[in-house]
Amino acid sequence: MGGGDYTNPFDIFDSLFDNLNTGGRGSRNRATEGEDQLHNLVLNFKDAIFGIEKEIEITRLESCNTCKGSGAKPETRSSKCSTCGGQGQVITSARTPLGVFQQVMTCPNCNGAGEISTPCSTCRGEGRVKKSKRISLKVPAGVDSGSRLRVRSEGNAGRRGGPPGDLFVMIEVLSDSVLKRDDTNILYTCKLSYIDAILGTTMKVPTVDGIVDLKIPCGTQPGTTLVMAKKGVPFLNKSNRRGDQLVKVQVEIPKRLSVEEKKLIEELSELNKAKATASRR
Ligand SMILES: [Zn+2]
Ligand SMILES: [Zn+2]
Repeated sequence: MGGGDYTNPFDIFDSLFDNLNTGGRGSRNRATEGEDQLHNLVLNFKDAIFGIEKEIEITRLESCNTCKGSGAKPETRSSKCSTCGGQGQVITSARTPLGVFQQVMTCPNCNGAGEISTPCSTCRGEGRVKKSKRISLKVPAGVDSGSRLRVRSEGNAGRRGGPPGDLFVMIEVLSDSVLKRDDTNILYTCKLSYIDAILGTTMKVPTVDGIVDLKIPCGTQPGTTLVMAKKGVPFLNKSNRRGDQLVKVQVEIPKRLSVEEKKLIEELSELNKAKATASRR
């Protein structure tokens, strides 16, 4: 292939534009929307459940104050672009097996503006500079790992007066050592002695609201799940509604008994046999 004969001149110029953008020379001329920015936020287990106001520090591109975002050095005059003669467009020819095609392209030297200006020294002609900002973020109750909060217009500034992008805050929630979360429900497993399972009792159970008494009814079976209504996670954006805490009961059978305990259990066993015999009669 001969020099300058491109089957697809767009590819060549696209990559040229990319170079210009990173070099900060010709990219400033078109009004374009700023890019969205991502920010990762790690929350404690309870903060995600009840919501929290968090101050976060973000770094994004803001409009350059020196050149007011134009990218041109203040008090300098721009000159006509020599590549396109001020037209902002150039004509390229592409020779293909079907013939020579002429195409009108945006001028890669001035990026379509038709003029070249001395680049602003603060932003190197980019029109935008990297800046940190603290933002007070209201995290609503009920967020979970994978939740995404959108803060409008806090992304990168636009170019040449273009609108700014948005900021997206990606939530990650730390796990709790005792309570597990399942969407809007909280899962908890409690260990219960076989005697308490038979006779029933009241247990102190940890919840996201603190320690709460849970009534264990007599005759509770192993593996039973008890529901503590509305002790779960508030619904996202409907915080007057809440999930439940589900308590799974694990009944513990002792592996060793004292002499006295064994005697009592054996008595219980005898009583049980007598009861069975009586019912068979
Ligand atoms: Zn500037
Ligand atoms: Zn030009």
